[in-house]
Amino acid sequence: MASSDKKAGKRLLLVGGGHAHVLVLETFARKPEPGLTITLVSKDCLTPYSGMLPGHLAGAYTRDEIHIDLERLARAARAGLILDEAVGFDRAGRRVRLKGGGELTYDIVSVDIGITPDLSGIAGAEEHALAVKPIGSLLDKWDSLVDSALAPNGPRRVAIVGGGAAGICLAFAVAAFFRNRLSDAIKVSLIGASNAPGINAGMQRRIARALKRRGIAVHADDPASRIDQNGVTLASGRFVPADAVLVSTHAAPPPVLATADWAKDESGFLAIGPTLQILNDKAAFAAGDCAIMVAHPRPKAGVFAVRQGPVLARNLRRVVRGEALETTIPQRDHLLLIATGDGRAIGGRGRLLAFGGRLAWRLKDFIDRRFMRRFEL
Ligand SMILES: Cc1cc2nc3c(=O)[nH]c(=O)nc-3n(C[C@H](O)[C@H](O)[C@H](O)COP(=O)(O)OP(=O)(O)OC[C@H]3O[C@@H](n4cnc5c(N)ncnc54)[C@H](O)[C@@H]3O)c2cc1C
Repeated sequence: MASSDKKAGKRLLLVGGGHAHVLVLETFARKPEPGLTITLVSKDCLTPYSGMLPGHLAGAYTRDEIHIDLERLARAARAGLILDEAVGFDRAGRRVRLKGGGELTYDIVSVDIGITPDLSGIAGAEEHALAVKPIGSLLDKWDSLVDSALAPNGPRRVAIVGGGAAGICLAFAVAAFFRNRLSDAIKVSLIGASNAPGINAGMQRRIARALKRRGIAVHADDPASRIDQNGVTLASGRFVPADAVLVSTHAAPPPVLATADWAKDESGFLAIGPTLQILNDKAAFAAGDCAIMVAHPRPKAGVFAVRQGPVLARNLRRVVRGEALETTIPQRDHLLLIATGDGRAIGGRGRLLAFGGRLAWRLKDFIDRRFMRRFEL
């Protein structure tokens, strides 16, 4: 068989429209690969860009502005789009089972399906809290919360459980939204550990001051142990009254990964190597929060998925061409920018750099809008 024949007919299946896969599609839209047929399976047609989510909740961006239209992107990449959910992976048969009943076969598969929230450690969270992931369902619940909060006797006390970057962003966003929309005061509480990964001491001091200025009550080093319809009970026994509770805590692997005979870490995330291939399957790649580079683990953050996107695209192309794959090691730190919902942001990097103010917000806004413009194909 001639080498051009060998290339012909390769089928790439992208499972999940996460941050890495949208960049893969963008790459193939700009430079198609002859002989490669791409299919994207996604639960949703619109995928949210998490960096702009708090800005959207605070009222700075419309819903359209924070979403990437997968139908349009797939069309630009000449990829098929199947709106369905992967519910089973068959490594040996190179097959993916869909919730809608069908089955898809592939030559190469890539998985970028994010995480599922792990609410198991907080009693009552499943029934009484809004999990912030998946973001799509958070937005529906947020709409209901806003509708009820805007009613005369609606909820006025919101608690956010999770003191990582996402929880802090959410607390600022929720406070800003309600401050702009409601004349009577809304009480926002942030419950979480004080040492969020990736937030250096200088940033922590700025964040603490900004939370205080916004009137956000912080319960650090006292994790939530129970949530009921009246509020949150902390490990110390203290009670934080709340009419609505948003939970942004630990990540668990999506349950569908349990069906796969792929290498995983002890938590069940897909174990990948520096080429982004799953360790026990050269035909399978994974990226974003659902994967872990076992030799170089990093916290779950969209920035890593975004960085993996272009490498993943190049390696998928190299596999099709039969070329050697490129390796990547996730960087140790990255620029972190937290919007404070008042036209300002707090930023920092590594152990020492920390800054804040209106320029920081303009930088964040510039970076995020530039990212979204890539998908205007
Ligand atoms: C409030 C908030 C703010 C955040 N802000 C930031 C930030 O500023 N910077 C940052 O770096 N990170 C941020 N994060 C973290 C960030 O959201 C995640 O790290 C990022 O979304 C991970 O991207 P991903 O590509 O792994 O998956 P996701 O973005 O979660 O995408 C997964 C996609 O796969 C689809 N999917 C899931 N399961 C299936 C299935 N079985 N079959 C088919 N499709 C499926 C989903 O519909 C979804 O579209 C924030 C998170 C939150 C909650």
